[in-house]
Amino acid sequence: MNIHEFQAKQLLAARGLLVPPGAVCETPEAARQEAERLLAQGASQLAVKAQIHAGGRGKGVFADGYRGGVRLVRTAEEAEACARAMLGNVLVTRQTGPSGRRVRRVLVTAAPEIRRELYVAVLLDRARACPVVMASTEGGVDIEEVAAHSPDKIVTEPVDPLLGWQGYQGRKLAVTLGLTGPLLPQAVRCFEALYRTWWECEAALVEINPFCVVATPKGETLLAIDAKMVLEDNALFRHPDLAALRDENEESPLEVEAGRYQLNYIKLDGDIACLVNGAGLAMATMDIIKHYGGEPANFLDVGGGANVEQVAAAFRIIMQDPNVKAILVNIFGGIMDCDVIARGIVTAVRETGLSVPLVVRLEGNNVEAARRTLAASGLSLISAGSMADAAEKVVAAARGLGQVVAGTV
Ligand code: GDP
Ligand code: MG
Repeated sequence: MNIHEFQAKQLLAARGLLVPPGAVCETPEAARQEAERLLAQGASQLAVKAQIHAGGRGKGVFADGYRGGVRLVRTAEEAEACARAMLGNVLVTRQTGPSGRRVRRVLVTAAPEIRRELYVAVLLDRARACPVVMASTEGGVDIEEVAAHSPDKIVTEPVDPLLGWQGYQGRKLAVTLGLTGPLLPQAVRCFEALYRTWWECEAALVEINPFCVVATPKGETLLAIDAKMVLEDNALFRHPDLAALRDENEESPLEVEAGRYQLNYIKLDGDIACLVNGAGLAMATMDIIKHYGGEPANFLDVGGGANVEQVAAAFRIIMQDPNVKAILVNIFGGIMDCDVIARGIVTAVRETGLSVPLVVRLEGNNVEAARRTLAASGLSLISAGSMADAAEKVVAAARGLGQVVAGTV
């Protein structure tokens, strides 16, 4: 689960990482008030930052042509004007896709003068099977580009999960980043706070980009100017306070609906919907659709113990995707009772109708009853024998090649 920059900054600040003072605002007036408060505290420059679950905001463009989801201003009037321009507007960045994201909140913070932009992140390295802290002197810009063109500029420090992050690792990393003198002990504390946040929140990723050396009247200091956190979904049940940070506005409405029915649904860009039981079979189904030249519209695993209600919900969800041109139901009933799937499909189609070709391949537990249910329903569907047969038929159906005769399973 992704969370917003302002939420990530709160979690990091609570563990000792320095972040610029500021507050999240839902109205231009609130932004103005926060700006006045920060200016009164001595800030000479402010940042107004659109809060969406996507990076690249600085270079993003709004649907109405307004440029920049991160704007630097010097007065409360300007902060209010920026907030007015952003709130309710749709921001398109290289991470949002062309449809962009509607901005419902802005973060108004003090924006000190930046001397250096670094990059630092904690994530899980699956190959090494341990957490790693990654850092680079080339922060601020697209880190993927740095990784692609000058990988030597990224340093990686593996962490023994039993020992945790060690002080010597922090000192080593600080020196590598050129953080010496009074910045060195600060950097060591920052890395500790960063790792602790990642560990305690059971995050998949904590990323500070840019992690900045900024100028203050008292000298240079280290600040997290931006923060991104991805929390591990499978650990959220242990953290009700973190689960409460969920922003459903940022999630695909179909995925939210699927979550309500405990379905594993991920929307994809293709036009062939699949309804499958078991993650492995779902992956294999997507692969074979691609093998026959099609593109899956989703990943959907109804699980081994789904009931009729869940299957009907699953079917409704895939039919709500306007891109879908054909549906493939591929069920191997090991634990799953095939008839539950059949009854779920019939229930859903009765409610909403069926406007695209439906290819069904059922095998296993109680398959005869399932075939009878589908036959009795009068539903027009294309039956398939093997998985390859099913994939070929659904790809043809999605292309509108009607040579496949619709019948019952
Ligand atoms: P992103 O574009 O979504 O990654 O948003 P960031 O928060 O990283 O902001 C993009 C860029 O705007 C940063 O790399 C900085 O160069 C600049 N920026 C953001 N916040 C501040 C700030 O507080 N002070 C200054 N001087 N620049 C900032
Ligand atoms: Mg950033």
